[in-house]
Amino acid sequence: MQTSETFLVVGWGLAGMAVARQFELRGIPFEVISDRSTSASRVAAGVYNPIVLRRYNLAWEAAHSMPLAESFYQALSDDLGIEVDVPLPLYRRMASVEEQNGWYTAMDKPGLMPFMHPEIVHYKNPGLDLPYGVGPVLNTGWVRTEELLDRYAAVLSERGLFHTESWSDDHWDNERKTWHGRAYRGVVLATGFGIAQSRYFGYLPVQGTKGELLTIHAPGLGEEHIVKSGIFLLPLGNDYYRVGATYSWDDPTDIPTEQARIKLEKDLEALLLIPYQVVDHRAGLRPTVPDRRPLVGVHPNYPSLSVINGMGSRGVVMAPLAAQALVSHLVDHQPLPEEIDIKRYARFLASSGL
Ligand SMILES: Cc1cc2nc3c(=O)[nH]c(=O)nc-3n(C[C@H](O)[C@H](O)[C@H](O)COP(=O)(O)OP(=O)(O)OC[C@H]3O[C@@H](n4cnc5c(N)ncnc54)[C@H](O)[C@@H]3O)c2cc1C
Repeated sequence: MQTSETFLVVGWGLAGMAVARQFELRGIPFEVISDRSTSASRVAAGVYNPIVLRRYNLAWEAAHSMPLAESFYQALSDDLGIEVDVPLPLYRRMASVEEQNGWYTAMDKPGLMPFMHPEIVHYKNPGLDLPYGVGPVLNTGWVRTEELLDRYAAVLSERGLFHTESWSDDHWDNERKTWHGRAYRGVVLATGFGIAQSRYFGYLPVQGTKGELLTIHAPGLGEEHIVKSGIFLLPLGNDYYRVGATYSWDDPTDIPTEQARIKLEKDLEALLLIPYQVVDHRAGLRPTVPDRRPLVGVHPNYPSLSVINGMGSRGVVMAPLAAQALVSHLVDHQPLPEEIDIKRYARFLASSGL
């Protein structure tokens, strides 16, 4: 039952879900409202990978966030009675001898060695063009985000804790801490790129980085690894594969485009040697921050409002870590790590007039 001790979580993507889970695990009363105005977490391929493969850098906080995310999804899956975490090796395709050398050089970078297979593997699949072998990345896989969000929402719905509803700033009374007349302990806004519409947190520099993905059917391919070249090929089972993703900074809609489909198919044709069919095409907006760190914290002028956002292209791994930090801050008054605290963008608040 909702009381003035209840937190209201707004937004049911990976970020809002991770916050709700933290509240649940700690026995803190909460409710969730969400609509479907943004869809990054439902569209996401759900891949997790400790290495930024374009530059061979360790992803931010990977050594800490990866094991945390693994236990987060495992425990949640167990409670929900579903299997959402699919560990799968990721094979980085080598396109030349230079790229092979790059693999060996990268192994000397701090922290990378535990996540890189020490040798290039001369792996063959007759349906794939892999002329210089692959570099296997360790501790990779994917999370079935859509299934997880739907199942957890259904369970919370049965308990009266999830409502399909849109948040509007106009219905929040800061003095009384009420939403539509109902009193809350505080509100956590986890609205992804919807933050751009927020009167309170719209000052934060979140950009909508559009991403598009195809689902293809390639009968006979039989690939069981995630294969990464310019794009990734993610096996879904029965020779269905997800292929993606694009990055675009100048289209703030989640409408799939012909241009992205053509680009993905062109990249795919450089990798795939057998016929395939496109069976689905989806798009979403990644909430991206200039410094590529999550945005977490309490509004400097309205302390009952807090935010979790900025998961960028790594929501699967970032959301559990960011949610844990936010809930420890809200409940135990633990300081937030400076790197994710919204205080780092306080200068934008001053110019917003809030
Ligand atoms: C094509 C693509 C591929 C990706 N692949 C990966 C990947 O492989 N691995 C990975 O880790 N990440 C991936 N990402 C990134 C990942 O999707 C995001 O980091 C993450 O989903 C962001 O989660 P979020 O909860 O902050 O936002 P969202 O998922 O956008 O969730 C926000 C929620 O808030 C709701 N909402 C918004 N405004 C309101 C309002 N006013 N009232 C009520 N509800 C509201 C929305 O409807 C939505 O349900 C990908 C993204 C895209 C687009």
